[in-house]
Amino acid sequence: MPSHSIPRPARSWVPMRQDHPFGIQTLPYGSFTRSDGRARVGVAIGDHVLDLSAAWPALAPAEEDLFSTGSLDRFLAAGPSSWDRVRSTVSRWLSDEREREHVHGFLLPAAEAAMLLPFTVADYVDFYASEHHAANLGRMFRPGTDPLTANWKHMPIGYHGRAGTVVVSGTPVPRPRGQRRTAEGAVTVGPSLRLDIEAELGFVVGVPTTMGEQVSLSAFDQYVFGVCLVNDWSARDIQAWEYVPLGPFLGKSFATSVSPWIVPLAALQEARTAPPPRSPRPVAYLDDSGEAPWGLDVRLQVSVNGTKVSEPCFADMYWTAAQQLAHMTFNGASLRTGDLFASGTISGPTEQSRGSLIELTWNGREPLEIDGGRRTFLEDGDEVVITATAPGPAGTVVGLGEVRGRVAPGGGRGAAPREPRHSERQR
Ligand code: CA
Repeated sequence: MPSHSIPRPARSWVPMRQDHPFGIQTLPYGSFTRSDGRARVGVAIGDHVLDLSAAWPALAPAEEDLFSTGSLDRFLAAGPSSWDRVRSTVSRWLSDEREREHVHGFLLPAAEAAMLLPFTVADYVDFYASEHHAANLGRMFRPGTDPLTANWKHMPIGYHGRAGTVVVSGTPVPRPRGQRRTAEGAVTVGPSLRLDIEAELGFVVGVPTTMGEQVSLSAFDQYVFGVCLVNDWSARDIQAWEYVPLGPFLGKSFATSVSPWIVPLAALQEARTAPPPRSPRPVAYLDDSGEAPWGLDVRLQVSVNGTKVSEPCFADMYWTAAQQLAHMTFNGASLRTGDLFASGTISGPTEQSRGSLIELTWNGREPLEIDGGRRTFLEDGDEVVITATAPGPAGTVVGLGEVRGRVAPGGGRGAAPREPRHSERQR
């Protein structure tokens, strides 16, 4: 059996509390640097990081070294048999007491690792897969009509975003500026006044395809390596004015933050759950009724300046990532290693499970109490943190880490936004 289905994870000999979300059941991959500035691939274990770029050639010299560049790119491209082999090897290193003396020297405290963007983002696609989110926005912006558009239950709706502005957690997000239309109908230019978040999961493609190929629902985990957390920052005022007729553009493209640790699908097997019932039945290439389910019981928490504002659950999503990948390739569009597709805002049926401020404050009409103040949209200096966990084998918890970002003043006209710093230190 592949490591996909390790039934009962061994305990790691690395000291940590027993319920640590980065226990041996998780083993996420990231890219980090230390004081020398060199990028390395790491695996998180408890409050430590295993330096895989150093450990692999030393401890597995006969095997192909996929980690020497310090990014996950080569490992992602290597495909499922390599993913399984490396995961089993690392799991053995970190759980077998006999390996301790060989492996110990390649561990460092996580606090000493400055996390980098872990892979080269090829194409970035953002979906819109929560029925609750889509219906909430429909009610706000198209009152009196069906909250869902006619196509919504027939296909996963999405758009292509900007890969070059996907940044790692901790990178400051300069407030975007752009055009908006005032309530009186005048067009003005300036910093966004309605800066928002969207709590999402991102799926990372490893294995490429050629043009004309399609990826079926059942082949999902042969192409997709793993999952990260995504904050799809959104300037609602810019978006509302520009999005007709071609969809989101500058209201989204200024920044998308991702968590630094990519959790392999192999760690999420216990989290797989049936997605909500679909009606009407999807067309054949999206009909997953005869497939092993790809709903995921991933629970998120969203906080602003330390105050928890929402607890969305990914299991509420109408369309799964397997359906999104099948849809994205059905026309024959090829995949590249490092393609990132995000789920869309994760909003559930309750007010406490809405994954964006525009929903939580109902388009700014119902402010939130945060840190002694009232918030509708984000102010300069506000910090947003999204975390998540999923059930692991034998009662363990699989952590997805966190995606963190602080709004920096972007300035008005003519002010230059700060360059994002990829090396900003964070956990
Ligand atoms: Ca989004």
